[in-house]
Amino acid sequence: MRRRYERLSRFPEGLLVTGDALCNFNPIYGQGMAVGALDALAMRDCLRAGATALARRYFAAAARAVDPAWRLAAGADLAMREAEGSRPPRVRVLNAYVRRLQRAAAHDPAVAVAFGRVTGLLDPPSALMRPAVLWRALRG
Ligand SMILES: Cc1cc2nc3c(=O)[nH]c(=O)nc-3n(C[C@H](O)[C@H](O)[C@H](O)COP(=O)(O)OP(=O)(O)OC[C@H]3O[C@@H](n4cnc5c(N)ncnc54)[C@H](O)[C@@H]3O)c2cc1C
Repeated sequence: MRRRYERLSRFPEGLLVTGDALCNFNPIYGQGMAVGALDALAMRDCLRAGATALARRYFAAAARAVDPAWRLAAGADLAMREAEGSRPPRVRVLNAYVRRLQRAAAHDPAVAVAFGRVTGLLDPPSALMRPAVLWRALRG
């Protein structure tokens, strides 16, 4: 569940929202604390720049921190038949690719590392589209 505070035009002064209150994930992905830490870094950087328009700056920065994990987790949830939500072609193709990637990762350490780095939020999801990973996943 994601709350899009960055889309609000007004927000009370002296209050910020972080961690699970901003976005909470299906626990099977193990991303909640990592994203909470990224929110904290975004908050630190925004506070260093002063208090002017703090909420607007912070929520925009936090949204950028949350986005990759949210896309991964929400997209992966849609691979489950019982999950409600629309599945545009982009999501269906991506989930089919991730299934191949996971099969390849079971016996190809390079693919496993690439996948782990993305789910661990060390690399952006686009890292899984690098030619070397793509080739190994499709071949595997
Ligand atoms: C089963 C499970 C497994 C998970 N596994 C992982 C994992 O492997 N890796 C990972 O990164 N994340 C994991 N998570 C997610 C992670 O636990 C959360 O993302 C993280 O705890 C969120 O921290 P938070 O401080 O935002 O919220 P919370 O940890 O929920 O802290 C909120 C605190 O506020 C308190 N509170 C609530 N209301 C009030 C009130 N009115 N007044 C005062 N206090 C109040 C609560 O008691 C609580 O202590 C998992 C979550 C679950 C449920």
